[in-house]
Amino acid sequence: MTDLEQILSEARAKVAAATQAESLRAVDREYLGKEGVVAGLLAAIPTLEPSERRAAGQGANEVKTAVLEAIEERKAALAQEALSAQLSGEGFDPTLPGAVQRRGSLHPITQVTRELEDLFTSMGYSVLDGPEVELDHYNFEALNIPSDHPARDSQDTFFCDPEGHLVMRTHTSPVQVRAMEQLEPPFRAVAPGKVFRQETTDASHEHTFHQMEGLVVGKDISVGHLIGAMKTLLRGIFGRDLDVRLRPGYFPFVEPGFELDARCPFCEKGCSVCKRTTWIELLPCGLVHPNVLRMGGIDPDEWSGFAFGLGLSRLVMLRYGIDDVRHLLGGDLRFLEQF
Ligand SMILES: [Zn+2]
Repeated sequence: MTDLEQILSEARAKVAAATQAESLRAVDREYLGKEGVVAGLLAAIPTLEPSERRAAGQGANEVKTAVLEAIEERKAALAQEALSAQLSGEGFDPTLPGAVQRRGSLHPITQVTRELEDLFTSMGYSVLDGPEVELDHYNFEALNIPSDHPARDSQDTFFCDPEGHLVMRTHTSPVQVRAMEQLEPPFRAVAPGKVFRQETTDASHEHTFHQMEGLVVGKDISVGHLIGAMKTLLRGIFGRDLDVRLRPGYFPFVEPGFELDARCPFCEKGCSVCKRTTWIELLPCGLVHPNVLRMGGIDPDEWSGFAFGLGLSRLVMLRYGIDDVRHLLGGDLRFLEQF
């Protein structure tokens, strides 16, 4: 027992004398290492009288614990000393600038999408999501796009399987059909998301771009409701009222279908954005075709609705004066850091 006490007090003295992490590690190795003092004590136990072994084992373990504690305490104290020295001593200049943190920002498409989601949510719309790889049924068939329609031409669509059952969705309109299947009318919903076309890319064409589909189903929905919603939308985007006009347009999933134009928000007499016409083509829209309602499980004799397909990418370009659609998904930080 005397031996153990002596070993312990020596160890404590060495720990206390250690002024650096390295010398402390040396004490650690000397006492607690594989061939250290404590290991030696434990190894010697089998040579003792059986009656003494229990007490010797206990004693050796107590030494081990005590040395370990002393080392840990000393280690913490040394770290504290080092920190205080650094804070008060030489070589520490609190006026040096810190390391610059690079800050990210939201993509302009994300920003505009979120703004529009807020706007539509405030008008009672739900925000829906749908798959980007879509069944032919939802992308075409249920939207009243017959198999001989030009939109089905392989020029425009990325097919995912040889039979053409799976496509990269060419518009966000399939979410309309999914919404009709899942929601009980009356309802209002928007579906923002990526769409894909097999396009040769240039300043105004990109194979991947963003749309926001809108759908309202209710009793006696008319073109007046559609225009009202579109004017609210424009006020939300451009911050003021803009005149709109409807031109007839053909889209298989609406009847009647329209192209909605808005007064150019950038000029009064014509500019490059509106191609000197003072109108900008903004979105296709119309009253939902009865066939589409039927395909979505909704009785067209009881319910009607309107739908619109907002070109989000185009809107973002208009809003920020971006002249090339390829900037949007090009991943160039010099472009993105401006937002
Ligand atoms: Zn203009």
